[in-house]
Amino acid sequence: MDQLVIGQTLAFAGDPFVEGPTAARHSTRGAVLIRQGRIAEMGEAETLRAAHPQAAVTDMGNALLSAGFIDAHVHYPQTGIIASWGKRLIDWLNSYTFPEEMRFADPAYSTEVAERYFDLALAHGTTSMCSYATIHPASVDAFFAAAQSRGMRALAGKTCMDRNAPDGLRDTPQSAYDDSRRLLERWHGVDRLSYVITPRFSPTSTPEQLMMLGQLWREHPDCLMQTHLSEQTDEIEWVKSLFPQARDYLDTYEAQGLLGEGAVYGHAIHLTARERDRLREAGASLVHCPTSNTFIGSGIFDMAGLVASGLRIGLATDTGGGSSFSMLRTMAAAYELAQLRGTALHPSQLWWLATVGSARALRIEEKVGNLAVGMEADLVAIDLGSTPAIAQRSGRAADLWEALFPTIMMGDDRAVAGVWIGGKRLG
Ligand SMILES: [Zn+2]
Repeated sequence: MDQLVIGQTLAFAGDPFVEGPTAARHSTRGAVLIRQGRIAEMGEAETLRAAHPQAAVTDMGNALLSAGFIDAHVHYPQTGIIASWGKRLIDWLNSYTFPEEMRFADPAYSTEVAERYFDLALAHGTTSMCSYATIHPASVDAFFAAAQSRGMRALAGKTCMDRNAPDGLRDTPQSAYDDSRRLLERWHGVDRLSYVITPRFSPTSTPEQLMMLGQLWREHPDCLMQTHLSEQTDEIEWVKSLFPQARDYLDTYEAQGLLGEGAVYGHAIHLTARERDRLREAGASLVHCPTSNTFIGSGIFDMAGLVASGLRIGLATDTGGGSSFSMLRTMAAAYELAQLRGTALHPSQLWWLATVGSARALRIEEKVGNLAVGMEADLVAIDLGSTPAIAQRSGRAADLWEALFPTIMMGDDRAVAGVWIGGKRLG
């Protein structure tokens, strides 16, 4: 049966970084008609209601209907260690991440954390995400099974590491290739799931392992490849010592066939001019993880400069290096970091980054990330007055953006009034 969801609607007809806020389409009393899991029509509520009298109506009142948030870089296995105190990147990995990831050798623990992660993500209005698993193949199975049971569009891959990680958390070039290939064949393209080839980062992969994963990517070019790039200056120095022949950090990937369209690099804060040029020429994507960058003390992403260069840029929590599951909190952190570089990102740009931008970075923008006819019906309804502090500010707003910005800056899961996955209401 057709469903009609009514509320304020926010969609994008263009890119607000190019066209400004007029790229957005807003209706104060709009509606989305959902049929067989997709958006069949969009329009004014009363018009669609009259045209589809049989449709089941859900009226969300003044809540803002938008495409669900897309978190372009997470580590679901780090759910349990989010908000761990006092470390920078390498110490963070050794002190918190690796001991926790070790526990995913137990498939039952993988399933427990995957279920908890998806419940948290959905409660925060995140309807798609691209995750790192651990080195254990069962951790990938647990992620995809949990996404599949919820009908979600989700992406993930086995994290590959064959050096500089503790015993029990290392694979080999060959086993990384074999396990990744088996998982890819099992999950890629099944329902709404996509496999992503996933070397953690150059410090924990030998050139041989990177080469094997480059080979796997050549054999499966329709997969994405995700990894980390230039997050902290200490890390970059370490990469230099591990790869003395490399021109720069990006070259450690490029030399092994791990640069191209469909490459998705997390962080990318301290880029050289050559790296920027090559990323742009190759059509790669970058993912900005602002709460992680402040929490771990990594640095300030050059949003304005990198957007202007035409790169695909997504937004992400980087759970659990990031300090929140909320893409609202993540937009706020992106705003604050851009301010430190002298740019005030407009609410339309922040919202676009968390939806269309992340979808473009993950090359799923034809399917999700926007409200448009034919798109998969992954929706959120956002209460623009979810706390007294937010309500008193949005109550005096003169337009949508002024009404929405307090929720971007101060909102959390309490602002999420509804979530639909493939047209089915989950929360
Ligand atoms: Zn990460």
